[in-house]
Amino acid sequence: PSDVVPQAPEDPLFGLMAAFRADESPDKVDLGIGAYRDDNAKPWILPVVKKADEILRNDPDLNHEYAPIAGIQSFTSKAAELMLGADSPALKEKRSASIQTISGTGAVHLGALFLAKFFKGNRTVYVSNPTWANHHQIFSNVGIPTKQYPYFDKKTKGLDFEGMKNAIKDAPERSIILLHPCAHNPTGVDPTLDQWKELAEVIRSKNHFPFFDSAYQGFASGNLARDAASVRYFVEQGFELLIAQSFAKNFGLYGERAGCFHAVTAPGPDAQTTISRIASQLAILQRSEISNPPLYGARIVSLVLNDAKLFAEWEDNLTTMSGRIMDMRNSLRAKLEELGTPGTWNHITDQIGMFSFTGLTEEQVMRLRKESHIYMTKNGRISMAGLNTKNIDYFAKAVHAVVSS
Ligand code: PMP
Repeated sequence: PSDVVPQAPEDPLFGLMAAFRADESPDKVDLGIGAYRDDNAKPWILPVVKKADEILRNDPDLNHEYAPIAGIQSFTSKAAELMLGADSPALKEKRSASIQTISGTGAVHLGALFLAKFFKGNRTVYVSNPTWANHHQIFSNVGIPTKQYPYFDKKTKGLDFEGMKNAIKDAPERSIILLHPCAHNPTGVDPTLDQWKELAEVIRSKNHFPFFDSAYQGFASGNLARDAASVRYFVEQGFELLIAQSFAKNFGLYGERAGCFHAVTAPGPDAQTTISRIASQLAILQRSEISNPPLYGARIVSLVLNDAKLFAEWEDNLTTMSGRIMDMRNSLRAKLEELGTPGTWNHITDQIGMFSFTGLTEEQVMRLRKESHIYMTKNGRISMAGLNTKNIDYFAKAVHAVVSS
């Protein structure tokens, strides 16, 4: 019958992109999707990715055979080192398993599926309010409902740390806690390392199960180790945990779907047998979902992570991206303060990573769209990389106008 499948709502972000594309104004500004843009508002292919691509193209031994089920081993092993640190106790004690996924989304999904099948505890995942909207769908699609812990403090436009900590403390024993290790999407607000330590204590005291979703390593501070400090701290503390890792943003490989999923078990005499059982189950799940992960993006990342010179060049490329974003933050705050735009604007420079939660209301967002052809999500989130030296004055003035009247 025709009414069995109802019409699904449009994905808000992709609807926003379509509206932007249809707008014919030469002044239009896209602050919607979280993809890096250069100062000319164009996608940027990282120079190190161009180099790696050249190397791949000239390699006579490459072919299009299937990758192993768990992915390209030279990629997954270096991806684990990048996340956990080369001297991680979990790597030394061989109690982690890594499997290549369809970018970060695929890694979150694989983790969710694994938990749906094997997790014995309170089968509810606690996510930040707000969080990346897809978290809710990915978990609920596998039968794990989401609940929220407070995160963003509307007054300070910073972290509601007490609210977050107390909600995690109050969650039923052995719940799943989803955490963003750095550059929180959509708020750009992260706990400090001391706050992470307090959170670890609370999570430990309730025997909760942490699941880190890392989509922006290298994008927050420009320093890869610093951006992974939260995960590394939890691992050092002996937690059993899961990690989803995306290379979409930090390599600019969005559409190539390079990602990795890591499971780490707690230290102990059974750790290695536990992890090999986990790896065997992950392989079965992978087989039924995608059989074999895609080659190209993982080959590029693998080349870079396995070559000291290319790695250094990648770090340099990361600094170019994070540096430009920080320049835009400083410049936007200075311009709004100069204009005397009502309110405080320190949060623009306090927040980090790809996004800023501006505090603009839905009404102001809609006015910016109608009056100035500026596109952002209704929650007032802007992708900082959408700003550049050519449009930032225009944007600041438009914000000033809607906030002032
Ligand atoms: N998690 C978070 C928090 C994200 O912001 C994103 C990207 N928007 C992802 C995961 C996954 O992105 P991808 O699948 O493109 O790697």
